[in-house]
Amino acid sequence: MLGIGTLAKKVFGTPNDRKIKATRPLVEKINALEEEFLALTDDGLKQKTEELRKRAIDGESLDDLLPEAFANCREGARRTLGLRAFDTQLMSAIFLHQGNISEQKTGEGKTLTATLAAYLNALTGKGVHVVTVNEYLVKRDADWMGKVFASLGLTTGAAVSGMTEEDKRAAYDCDVTYATNNELGFDYLRDNMKSELSQIFQKQHNFAIVDEVDSILIDEARTPLIISGPSQDRSEMYKIVDDVIPLLQESHYELDEKTRNVTFTDEGNEFLEQELHSRGLLEEGLTMYDPESTTIVHHVNQGLRAHKLFQRDKDYIVRDGEVMLIDEFTGRMMSGRRLSDGLHQAIEAKEGCQIQPENVTLASVTFQNYFRLYDKLAGMTGTAETEAEEFAEIYGLGVVVVPTNVPVARVDEDDQVYRSALEKYQAMIEKVKEANAIGQPVLVGTTSIEKSEMLSQMLTEAGIKHNVLNARQHEQEAQIVADAGKFGAVTIATNMAGRGTDIQLGGNVELKVIEALDADPDADPVAIREKIEAEHADEKKKVLDAGGLYVLASERHESRRIDNQLRGRSGRQGDPGRSSFYLSLEDDLMRIFGSERLEKVLTTLGLKEGEAIVHPWVNKSLERAQAKVEGRNFDIRKQLLKFDDVMNDQRKVIFGQRRDIMEAADLQEITADMREQVIDDLIDQFMPPKTYADQWDTQGFQAAVADQLNLDVPVAAWCEEEGVDDEVIRERLVEASENMMAQKAEQFGPESMRNIEKQVLLQAIDGKWRDHLLTLEHLRSVVGFRGYAQRDPLNEYKNESFQLFESMLDSLRTEVTQKLGQIRPMTEEEQQQILSQMQERQAAAQVNAAQAAEDNSEAPASTAAAASGSTAVAGFDENDPSTWGTPARNDECPCGSGKKFKHCHGKLA
Ligand code: ADP
Ligand code: MG
Repeated sequence: MLGIGTLAKKVFGTPNDRKIKATRPLVEKINALEEEFLALTDDGLKQKTEELRKRAIDGESLDDLLPEAFANCREGARRTLGLRAFDTQLMSAIFLHQGNISEQKTGEGKTLTATLAAYLNALTGKGVHVVTVNEYLVKRDADWMGKVFASLGLTTGAAVSGMTEEDKRAAYDCDVTYATNNELGFDYLRDNMKSELSQIFQKQHNFAIVDEVDSILIDEARTPLIISGPSQDRSEMYKIVDDVIPLLQESHYELDEKTRNVTFTDEGNEFLEQELHSRGLLEEGLTMYDPESTTIVHHVNQGLRAHKLFQRDKDYIVRDGEVMLIDEFTGRMMSGRRLSDGLHQAIEAKEGCQIQPENVTLASVTFQNYFRLYDKLAGMTGTAETEAEEFAEIYGLGVVVVPTNVPVARVDEDDQVYRSALEKYQAMIEKVKEANAIGQPVLVGTTSIEKSEMLSQMLTEAGIKHNVLNARQHEQEAQIVADAGKFGAVTIATNMAGRGTDIQLGGNVELKVIEALDADPDADPVAIREKIEAEHADEKKKVLDAGGLYVLASERHESRRIDNQLRGRSGRQGDPGRSSFYLSLEDDLMRIFGSERLEKVLTTLGLKEGEAIVHPWVNKSLERAQAKVEGRNFDIRKQLLKFDDVMNDQRKVIFGQRRDIMEAADLQEITADMREQVIDDLIDQFMPPKTYADQWDTQGFQAAVADQLNLDVPVAAWCEEEGVDDEVIRERLVEASENMMAQKAEQFGPESMRNIEKQVLLQAIDGKWRDHLLTLEHLRSVVGFRGYAQRDPLNEYKNESFQLFESMLDSLRTEVTQKLGQIRPMTEEEQQQILSQMQERQAAAQVNAAQAAEDNSEAPASTAAAASGSTAVAGFDENDPSTWGTPARNDECPCGSGKKFKHCHGKLA
């Protein structure tokens, strides 16, 4: 009997059915245009693009242009690749254009699907980003689909790591740019460390189509992208903290050995406060609970852990003055591995070793927050439906399941459950042998590299030839995966291995077609494809007769989605195939989810040694277990994101300010505002409301004015004057500082002044923001410790990070005002001195450059240099000619190019 819900679906269709149906008229419209576009010449296709572009710019909506654009793109692909987009691909591309995730099964042709939506959206000239999971796919797709775009008169770029700045910029300036999620995120962060608009890669975030979207927006979304660099030397602080820890009494902290957790008691905090005050590490007037103490509290916590949780010769050893960690399972030394967040340094202090500099975050972003930058976002994958809730909640993306071009014929067998892992593996080997005997290709899926290696060994012992993939060498693996559908092939893979490469029965036609087209660009792609397919026909028939690809999985993954990915490798485009999962009670998922109960039930059902039990009930309960894990993981990601969102709001403010500063023609208004704020703050501090002149620290006031405003004015005397109030003092200070800055502006000239202001502002923002990021990291660990019973750590974090942000802005204003107050043109002597320093630095830079070439770190060299904490003197900046004074024409150019000044920046017109 049908339930009401099921019945309603039969009559009215599911919401998904309705969405599919709604696209039909559009698809028909595109199909009706096909004849017309077939008749166009090759140039005609390009002219059509020009026409569509013009109409888009004149205000015609992309929705209205869609039928013609899709028809044009379909024709371009047919001509260049011999691929005529199926109706299901048109449908899917419509959903992409509407900002959805299209679930299209593996082998349905998502790569081609993306071109339709990308082409349409590139017509506005704002650029479209197509995102893939690895660089092999970036190059493959940009090359492959680039032919389609070229036939339509659009440019295609591939942004990959290790490119020169120029090439990278060119790639981003293309109509369509292929890139990995990592590269996009890093380039975004790098963009926000630059000081010239012209250097920016990502001019806008218009539309992104994310391929394998579940992998990128869900699996990889757990780890944020981080650009890090060395921080300044803080060994003194570590040493002071380390002196204090041994003074603690038992009542000062609570130690929980089981969870490896140790926290201070209130008594402990009071004691620390005293000790740290007397040692000058905690400023007078600050308590351990003030946001400004975050960093110290964090390091004291780390010091406590170093002393109470880490034991020498158990958790680490000291060798040659270095602290080396020990792997708790193998007992082996893990050389080169360091604990993060200052914990390693705390142990170094404890052991009296030299304290190594720590690496700190210079910039970071989560994928969630990166991809939310786009005006429109879309995604494709074979498996999205199980995660529909997360896509909707986090990214506002709907999921539409697009029907396959040809019905799926794969048979998904029930799970087989064994008692022990060994029995399971033995049974699997038997299965592989059986299939291999008739030449049926087998793809063995595993959840980890260790397990693939173990299975590989068992297969070798059984005398079965096979390949092992573990998602490390994308390019080679793509070749092997492409062959995984050949007669008699056996391939072991972890779940990400070769993702994005299609397993075609009898071997991959596409790679050969691309090869042939690359070798002979003038050849007719349709004919080439037919020829290669014909060559494959025999081999393909043998595999078809053997039953198609057999996917044999050795475990269920935590997430159903990953299992579905693996299954979906088989049965593409209506091919025969089958899949089965072999499980045991010793599998991780089983152990986590009450295998005891399961074991009881299975024994009742009659599970014997060496035999498997197969029962739909098992599948059901496992799926429930998986749904639970999925839910829990989603919660973890949501929680992480909530923390990142706090920082994200601040990041948006800062990055927005940077942008404004780079774009502004005149910065005097901004710096003048800052100056006035600084003056207001000084007055609030030294002439607090409701106080009298005799209560004011007038000498302190005068000193602060000299220090922060660089003004030599008799503030102290002003304060003694009869009837003087804060308004009068404010006016005088504003006037004096404005006069001073106006004078400086005159000395330098408006153009130079703007440049100086820009440099000072950007450097100050970057420096403060970096420090702030570090403080936020500390705050995150500190709110955990502080969590008093009733307080929500997230709320604490929100409030305190807001306060920290405010005080960062305060000190930013002070720094900018201070620096600008100090600028002055250089004297002859100083110029000479700087020039000789430059020469020394240049010699050193050549050595560094050679080292950097070997060092494969993510952060560009310039970033690392900027991080070393040295803000250039306001008087001189090698990037800013206005600060150079007048170099001699035959001297080396101060910009560091190595050329003579007269041939470089000093060139006359
Ligand atoms: P997916 O990413 O959806 O798994 P791919 O984009 O890798 O699929 O395409 C799989 C295979 O299907 C490729 O070899 C491609 O050439 C082929 N293909 C895609 N679209 C078409 C089409 N319209 N007609 C024929 N073959 C197609
Ligand atoms: Mg793909």
